[in-house]
Amino acid sequence: MNPLAATNRNFRHAARLLGLDSQLEKSLLMPHKEIKVECTIIKDDGSLASFEGFRVQHDNSRGTMKGGIRYHPEVEHGEVNALAQIMTWKTAVVNLPYGGAKGGIACDPKELSVRELERLTRVFTQKIHHFIGVNVDVPAPDMGTNAQTVSWIMDEYLKYHGYSPAIVTGKLIVGREATTGHGVIATEALLVDHGKLIEGRVGNWDLGLLGLVSCNLMVRIRCSDDVTNNMNPDELLFQECDVLIPCALGGVLTSKFLIICFRIEMVSYFKIAHRRENAGDVKAKFVVEAANHPVDPEADEILSKKGVIILPDIYANAGGVTVSYFEWVQNTQGFMWDEATVNLELKKYMKSAFGNIKKMCKTHDCNLRMGAFTLGVDRVARSTMLRGFEG
Ligand code: GLU
Repeated sequence: MNPLAATNRNFRHAARLLGLDSQLEKSLLMPHKEIKVECTIIKDDGSLASFEGFRVQHDNSRGTMKGGIRYHPEVEHGEVNALAQIMTWKTAVVNLPYGGAKGGIACDPKELSVRELERLTRVFTQKIHHFIGVNVDVPAPDMGTNAQTVSWIMDEYLKYHGYSPAIVTGKLIVGREATTGHGVIATEALLVDHGKLIEGRVGNWDLGLLGLVSCNLMVRIRCSDDVTNNMNPDELLFQECDVLIPCALGGVLTSKFLIICFRIEMVSYFKIAHRRENAGDVKAKFVVEAANHPVDPEADEILSKKGVIILPDIYANAGGVTVSYFEWVQNTQGFMWDEATVNLELKKYMKSAFGNIKKMCKTHDCNLRMGAFTLGVDRVARSTMLRGFEG
């Protein structure tokens, strides 16, 4: 099942649980705006290279649309669409005043030089600058992009619109590093809810985002070195462990982990975990979806039947966009927070969201994925209805 079909299926299931009107359901699924642009650059050797760029703005009923920009050879319209929709539900789950968007360029960033990447990013920005805005749509890093990419976008944007640091998030500011630990707060909330204690220093958990937290609840953490020692991705996913964390949020991880997580996602998650027959081999008790959409609906069913508890992406990795929100707030106010404030606020948002998801699970007698989806969809549906449709 492709990412869009899988996301639509989750949405429709939530819409049924909430008893949404079928026309409202149709309207919520339809993206607000879809932009596709041609980006041609002159490469370092003088030859031309053309790429397709996308920005899908899914929904703005709760506020400024928000979402990353992905550079990857497999970027295509359907996937960007699904990821934009996921951003709408994700921002609603953590109760940010945001809607959802996502963008990307179908390119292999590893095949381009830094100067070529800069030219490509600037051309893409020239093509989309009319459609984004501090109160309209705010890009951020995603897979294959980073603080450098969004800084180029900001620099190119200001040539047209004047100085606007809040036009992108994910720049190098105080507190951004804290996002490497965002999966930690979500995982902690889940484990505490199951009466489990986390041992060891929580700070070390950043490494757990790589893939596997193993043995006797969180005592041993496989770090980057285990992976670069050529651990077979099959082994990594199918280890006897407590928590498995498929992760590939390039933009919010440090560059060291970016490369490794990218590898894990490309080699093991998309190519292996997605295959129906392999979900049965996962031995973890909990799966935390630090990546966007790492478990497809069929694998979801298999894991659920095995009693594996899945913490869904629209909550598990929502810490990234929450810290983006803090950055946007700081930029619009021109007032910088310290790292302790960022961490404290992040904890507040994540813990409150988990509590609200659990309430939805109780109300609708459903699992955590549907608890999160009903929470997000319900909030978006209510604001859509309140704002109305008449022109
Ligand atoms: N790319 C991240 C995500 O998928 C962050 C998006 C953002 O901060 O706007 O959640």
